Amino acid sequence: MTAPPRREPDAPVAASAPSQALTTAEVAPAPSPGAGPGGVSPVAVRPLWPEGPPPGNPEGYGPVELLVIQPTPFCNLDCDYCYLPSRDDRQRLAMATLDAALDRVLESPYVGGDFTLLWHAGEPLTLPIAFYDAASARIAAALERHPSRQLTIHQSVQTNAMVINDAWCDCFVRNRIHVGVSLDGPAFLHDRHRRTRTGLPSHAATMRGIAALQRHAIHFQVICVLTEEALHHPDELFHFFVDHGIHDLAFNMEETEGENLESTLSRPHSEALYTSFLQRFWQLWIENPSQLRLREFEGICDLADTDSRIDHTDMNHPFAIVNVDASGRLSSFDPELLAVRTDEYGDFVLGDVHHDSLSAVAATAKFRRIARELRAGIERCRAECDYFGLCGGGAGSNKYWEHRRFDGTETQACRYRIKLTSDVVLSGLEAMLGLPAA
Ligand code: SF4
Repeated sequence: MTAPPRREPDAPVAASAPSQALTTAEVAPAPSPGAGPGGVSPVAVRPLWPEGPPPGNPEGYGPVELLVIQPTPFCNLDCDYCYLPSRDDRQRLAMATLDAALDRVLESPYVGGDFTLLWHAGEPLTLPIAFYDAASARIAAALERHPSRQLTIHQSVQTNAMVINDAWCDCFVRNRIHVGVSLDGPAFLHDRHRRTRTGLPSHAATMRGIAALQRHAIHFQVICVLTEEALHHPDELFHFFVDHGIHDLAFNMEETEGENLESTLSRPHSEALYTSFLQRFWQLWIENPSQLRLREFEGICDLADTDSRIDHTDMNHPFAIVNVDASGRLSSFDPELLAVRTDEYGDFVLGDVHHDSLSAVAATAKFRRIARELRAGIERCRAECDYFGLCGGGAGSNKYWEHRRFDGTETQACRYRIKLTSDVVLSGLEAMLGLPAA
């Protein structure tokens, strides 16, 4: 299974996230070098809708940043930490469903400009190249059906890269598809979790795919899932990526959610181990400038450097993300929520692109309940957490899986992704600047 990509709050680079309604004074202070978490400093805030939300969108939902579409639930891997059910379902997205998904988004009052269509949730490249050629033509046709939308839909795919060859590379170039690869470092770490249904390792095939991308000079970002085993090997991870010409990296934490009922990062001492891992990785990162972009470090450094803060994330703001599965079922917020069923909420499906507008979805009781609870969680985070300006209140799926509700605050996921990471980065910056530890 392809490791799920994450945007916010893994990537607190979206300093543009504050909502329209907030003013500078209302945004919680967040760290700057020398201040430590919670230090007070001026805060840069950029409104989501600078001209005000368009007619039909009085709540200021969106703008849509990401349209996540599942081309198939099927995956050619069976990773033991995967959250998705139905990984052996070979259903395929119909082109008519893609048309409907694009129409629902483009006709909605929640589009503000360019956005990214991410092919994800299953292994997208188990479908043929012809699917993506046809889909790219349908995307162009959809934009022609909505001529008032002067925007670009960027395509991106998150893949385990096992089938990438020269023909796939030509397809990516031809259709301008950005590539994200799921790779957990050297084989002894990667193959521990990322295996086929028959137990075969996948590292060699993924590296062949990466070699093809490199032959074609196609830029790609790697997402590396950190399990507890990886935390013992910061040097091996750093040098593996650099030595293989991989220069753009993001870490995802193994999380307890969906089908993955227990994370190895829940074990005793894992948080201390993670801190040691990050401290060593920071040291290597600083000692080897320009060798590796790391989303986690750069995101926090950027916020500190520009004195910017975030006050929500794409994951917890309505219609920043729209998710559509292979049958046309529709949701917002975290893509992780679309595929699962729970006792408390039933499922998180909010509509169907074949017959429900996004505005109609926003009026449903289920959407309003989720949005209201998420908002309450954000406000509690804002009031209680010194790290709020670096985080924006977390992801609903993490809060749900750990608290069985959306209006909670701290989770194991946010301790790893935000709190421990911020502490390491800010301590590192303070040391570089010769400042006393906060
Ligand atoms: S408690 Fe966690 S989710 Fe909430 S703002 Fe703080 S770091 Fe983010």
